[in-house]
Amino acid sequence: MEFEAIRKETMMLNPQENMAEQRIPSEIRIDPLTGRTARICHFMKLQWEKPDFDAMVAGTDAWCPFCPEKVLDITPCFPTDLVPEGRMQKDDMVIFPNIAPYDSIGACATFGARHYIPMTEFEPAHMAAAFGFAQDFFQRVDASGHPEAVYHIVNWNYMPPAGSSLIHPHLQVFSTSSAPNLMWAELEAARYYQESEGTNFWEDLVAAEKQTGERYLGRIGRTEWLTAFAPMGVAGDVLAVVEGACSTLELTEQDFLDIAAGLQKVMGAYDRMGVYSFNMNFFTGAQGDDHTRFHLLFSPRTFFNQALGTPDIGALRNLFNETLCMAYPEEINDLLKGAFG
Ligand SMILES: [Zn+2]
Repeated sequence: MEFEAIRKETMMLNPQENMAEQRIPSEIRIDPLTGRTARICHFMKLQWEKPDFDAMVAGTDAWCPFCPEKVLDITPCFPTDLVPEGRMQKDDMVIFPNIAPYDSIGACATFGARHYIPMTEFEPAHMAAAFGFAQDFFQRVDASGHPEAVYHIVNWNYMPPAGSSLIHPHLQVFSTSSAPNLMWAELEAARYYQESEGTNFWEDLVAAEKQTGERYLGRIGRTEWLTAFAPMGVAGDVLAVVEGACSTLELTEQDFLDIAAGLQKVMGAYDRMGVYSFNMNFFTGAQGDDHTRFHLLFSPRTFFNQALGTPDIGALRNLFNETLCMAYPEEINDLLKGAFG
């Protein structure tokens, strides 16, 4: 396993110190699977001011379509051949068609009746139940023999900086035969890796990261937790790889509890940095894709300028799809490792 980085240095003259030379390092890292590049630069202390959440949330429940008094009136229903009862319900969680679908089988899953759940108040059992409920939906799609029943994906945009237009916590749940860009690139690269190396990339990655320990966080059940070598998030990414599982449909109730337990630790650690928003995606193979392993990526979201509301994605990322991370992933690992004990 090669962890390749190209190191660079910028030289400038500092007028505050009599034009003394100032040298600023940066690094371009190459993702060991896909060859995607990620810049480690723009260094700053990973600490942000939390906003006034009461002010941010105040009044948003009045127009929230996912609150319990509206969700069963406002949200659409599935065709009866897919979900005969219209919407799926379990405890106070509801799954209904996404009114802005990404694909032909697109749904939203609420976390329940509570309109605002602070990041540190998500209980593992609650998150595991929501993931398991999404899997119930995928099982129905799969059983229906629908042509989109290939990749079963859960995305989570938590809070507005991560792209959520609502405060009310919910998951994007969709099945598709068209793997999204990066997931597709990973699947192709992992297939090529297995054909050329004779081993599984994800197993080799976990073994290599365990050996150096620089980016390894820990193991929960059969889930291995790492900080990503070439992260996409400005405050790093956390990767969880489920040993022996290729696809979402293969995950067990215990896997969801283990994943949720890890997420709770990661959320707690980022909360201490003042981060209150994140993206989380399932990266899944199709059933039988033994060249891959199910993994999820947790990527904290924040601002370049919090006071101005400047998002953490600019031209570099938006148009070049080149990412930047404002600290070395090994230092980010130090900030997270304590939570894993
Ligand atoms: Zn609500």
